[in-house]
Amino acid sequence: MVFLLIGPPGAGKGTQGRILSEKMHLPYLSSGDFLRELVVKNVPISRQVKLYMDKGELIPDSLMKELFLPEIKKLIVTQGGVVLDGYPRTLEQAKELESLLLSLSLSNRNIYVIELTLQKNELCKRLKERVFCPSCMRVFQNHDNFCSFCSTRLAKRSDDTMQVIEGRLRKYELKTRSLHEYFSNRGLLLTIPGEGSIQDIASIIEQAIKEKKLDIN
Ligand code: ADP
Repeated sequence: MVFLLIGPPGAGKGTQGRILSEKMHLPYLSSGDFLRELVVKNVPISRQVKLYMDKGELIPDSLMKELFLPEIKKLIVTQGGVVLDGYPRTLEQAKELESLLLSLSLSNRNIYVIELTLQKNELCKRLKERVFCPSCMRVFQNHDNFCSFCSTRLAKRSDDTMQVIEGRLRKYELKTRSLHEYFSNRGLLLTIPGEGSIQDIASIIEQAIKEKKLDIN
């Protein structure tokens, strides 16, 4: 089974993605975490990726295809599925992913797209206030100093500044919002409001998945 989490930055995709991955016993894969790890590794492509990320620009589709698509494939082949956060982010990426899933014989009944929605002022507030764990990549609110999972000192993400946040939200409107229609037309979309407690939202997601399963069967 494949779960795709889509929605604007700050809507809670990472938090809910990790919860879902545990519930479904599937690996969690975040394109943002993958790219941040790539930057830290300091391989030849790292500098170029960092430049895009620091500006809040999307990494070009061709590069994402080369760097990230094989990771998705590897997890599906070896672990039977994946909870994917942050990919696809453009129509081109959605088409690439669709053909990968087809080639792996995954039909629409095994694909769930969860869209988290949230108002812009709430998104900005969350992004400004969040810190992340450079070790396990989880996010927290900035009154926390240490990661409650691995005790690493938390840090501010370099792209969580007001100027870059605005740019990322604009990019989302420009490039990513159209995925709503794309997946909705395929009958795959489950749209979930992103406000409320983490546990409440997780339960709503779980319920929506169960209902879709019943619809299909
Ligand atoms: P957020 O959802 O909060 O913006 P992410 O961690 O998902 O954060 O992404 C951080 C950055 O990584 C993006 O601003 C972009 O530069 C890059 N990125 C992540 N996923 C993709 C993708 N699918 N395509 C292109 N760039 C991406």
